[in-house]
Amino acid sequence: PESLPLDQQLRARARQVLPGGVYGHMKADHTLPPSWPQFWERSHGPYGWDVDGNRYIDLMCAWGPMVLGYQDPVVEAAAAEQAARGDTISGPSARMVEFAELLTSVIPFADWAMFGKNGNDATSTAIRVARSATGRAKFLKATPAYHGANDWFTPNTTGVPAGERANIGYFAYNDIASLEASVAQHDGEIAAIILTPFQHDALVPQQLVDPAFARRARELATAQGAALIIDEVRSGLRLDLRGAWESIGVRPDMTAYSKAIANGHPIAAVVGSDSLREGASKIFVTGSFWYSAVPMAAGIATVKRAAELDLPAVLKASGERFKQGIEAQGAAAGLPVAITGPVQMPHLSFADDPEMKKVFAFTDAAVRRGVLLHPWHNMFLAAAHTDEVVDEALARIEGAFEELAGLGL
Ligand code: PMP
Repeated sequence: PESLPLDQQLRARARQVLPGGVYGHMKADHTLPPSWPQFWERSHGPYGWDVDGNRYIDLMCAWGPMVLGYQDPVVEAAAAEQAARGDTISGPSARMVEFAELLTSVIPFADWAMFGKNGNDATSTAIRVARSATGRAKFLKATPAYHGANDWFTPNTTGVPAGERANIGYFAYNDIASLEASVAQHDGEIAAIILTPFQHDALVPQQLVDPAFARRARELATAQGAALIIDEVRSGLRLDLRGAWESIGVRPDMTAYSKAIANGHPIAAVVGSDSLREGASKIFVTGSFWYSAVPMAAGIATVKRAAELDLPAVLKASGERFKQGIEAQGAAAGLPVAITGPVQMPHLSFADDPEMKKVFAFTDAAVRRGVLLHPWHNMFLAAAHTDEVVDEALARIEGAFEELAGLGL
């Protein structure tokens, strides 16, 4: 009926024409609190508006891609200027060379770059390069780390023949003995070890990398003649522009990027070291839109702006403000809440909440108060989350704690 909110009407229509309704990580039905909007009308700066006209302080940042602010004027000017000249043409523009030059100058270990669209393109291409360079089939990954939705990485194996996973070895993140055992089991057959820069699996609190684990992964990959791949699809531009593990002195052979590197424009990148240049030059990877110039122009503007702002430091400051504020509110309300992981990418969880009832009720209440929080996935800070915006979010969240306290869960 027309009296239902537009979001509800669209969900019903979606179920008729989209299999199971909206699919993938942006499906709101069942897995997110009832107040989470499924359909969005527009965005600007730190805000998103749902189709019913409600405004949210958006701490999901489109699940990562927005890192400066929605419709950042500098990035959009660069994109518009390129769009006026052309986007998808019969070959790449000079922007492709310029973006590769920029990334290899900002990321010390990187000597070359290849581009795609989504994070999955970057992680898949990195594995292909490693296999090309080594002539080996296997790669090792942490369980249950997410690196994309292809046949190897999707957490839901419906429709995936078991054989597709025959060349994968597994280990537990931050567990040196487990990684050593996996390497020993596949000794001499390993093309690559792929790792996220910290543990950001869904549903559980996040864990920073143990530097000893990172160093051991580097040693083992080198000893095996395998490529060490860091998947920075989620963390790129938020932790360290030079690479997430630069400050602990561990350099990968390849890094996968997507999400934030063009502030929301569709582009992914793999960057790699000279040792893999030949392997990379032999493979065939491509896509109709992989050469489009507008996202590359947007990427150049985003990465330059990130360097000018020292974006990781900016996000760290606002993330720290958010973490301290929300943890203090939770303690005061007698509902201890933990923000885990790098503060730029906060993950929220309550003490004593085994069935996640508290975190669902709390995030539901926060969303009704105009703050888009997530109950089981990390959130994201952006430069548009100024002190004023973070403080407004915290003021609204105060009411969500009161509501939760009243529920007595
Ligand atoms: N790697 C990581 C660490 C990710 O978080 C994601 C997406 N959430 C991917 C790869 C896949 O990226 P995409 O969805 O753009 O294919």
